[in-house]
Amino acid sequence: MRSVTILGATGSVGTSTLDLVERAPDRFRVRALTAYSDVAKLAAAAHRTDAELAVVADEACLPALRDALAGTATRVAGGRAAVIEAAASGADWTMGAIVGCAGLEPVMAAVAGGGTVVLANKEPLVSAGELILAAAAASGATLLPADSEHNAIFQCFAPAQAKAVRRIVLTASGGPFRDWSTDAMRAVTPAQAVAHPNWSMGAKISVDSATMMNKGLELIEAARLFPVDLERIEIVIHPQSVIHSAVEYHDGSMLAQLGPSDMRVPIAHCLAWPDRMETPMAPLDLVALGRLDFAAPDVERFPALRLAREALAAGGARPAILNAANEMAVAAFLAGKIGFLEIAAIVADTLATFDPPFPGTVDAVVAVDAEARARASDLIRGRVEDPVA
Ligand code: NAD
Ligand code: MG
Repeated sequence: MRSVTILGATGSVGTSTLDLVERAPDRFRVRALTAYSDVAKLAAAAHRTDAELAVVADEACLPALRDALAGTATRVAGGRAAVIEAAASGADWTMGAIVGCAGLEPVMAAVAGGGTVVLANKEPLVSAGELILAAAAASGATLLPADSEHNAIFQCFAPAQAKAVRRIVLTASGGPFRDWSTDAMRAVTPAQAVAHPNWSMGAKISVDSATMMNKGLELIEAARLFPVDLERIEIVIHPQSVIHSAVEYHDGSMLAQLGPSDMRVPIAHCLAWPDRMETPMAPLDLVALGRLDFAAPDVERFPALRLAREALAAGGARPAILNAANEMAVAAFLAGKIGFLEIAAIVADTLATFDPPFPGTVDAVVAVDAEARARASDLIRGRVEDPVA
């Protein structure tokens, strides 16, 4: 029996994780579930799984959560500190599925606990990857990547053969605007941007996929997780999202992981690792698929790719600034305040305004993140008040 905590249990990844956990009640029992404010969904999940603890990050929602779980054995708590405490509650297995850098402190708390910590939540790795890896080395925690590409690389990357790895091929669907001109993308609406052709995901990552900032964040994520230089990580467009990524060795062998576009596949790999577990998905039908296509990415139409590569190459605080500015710009786009192409522009402009030294502690990362958010907000306000054509 493994005890499981799910941070961000009401989101897209959290729901997929719960689905797998609930299908194997003989293998898993739920320690804690957390959410931001979706009390109904959180309480229902806690009830079904007989969770020991349910936490809402938004403290104003605590009375409703208490009412919803009255008469059950589930304890309840509210507020950001309670989420961090739940993360530190010593579960054998913790899923980090909060969206954004808001997940950094909870992930660090889980890592300090020393169990298995599964990272879907990629933004903390982008902003503070070195710190998360160092904390895992210190506590003995096992970090496993649930992001489908990084899980694919993990499955193909033999640590003992790391020196023989020539290249990592990070595949990208290209998002819904893969073939659109820059001019056509100018008028993209939030509804168009969140409708991903292959994956059903939360709003923020869906917009990131559409700008291809998601692949930029994933490039940084890959460089954090695997001992391969930036120049040897290649992004390749693969519209069918069947090959989730590949590792090429210097003898010419390329190993790839294939699977349906369903997050339950990489999550199940992390849940059962180093074993395997059954999942309910239909197996891949290669004959029905017929073909797999590949193309080079276009950094002119998708400047987020260049911004992310530059931020990673420069290092220091650049990835944290890139991520924070992007979170603010995506939120502004979803709120209808700025246009689709302005997302990458806000990120570039924020990066140009300041260049602090490497943030060597979590507090320092949080401070850089806050400063970058404030600067991005100012730039967004400037564009709203004085829109440029
Ligand atoms: P989502 O928006 O569907 O869910 C986010 C979850 O985090 C919800 O439970 C929400 O209540 C909670 N949350 C949001 N803000 C919070 C805050 N400030 N404090 C505490 N909790 C908060 O997002 P998602 O699509 O499930 O993505 C989660 C993470 O996983 C993201 O980092 C994303 O990049 C990554 N990821 C997602 C997918 C996918 O298929 N959805 C794939 C790979 C990686
Ligand atoms: Mg991914």
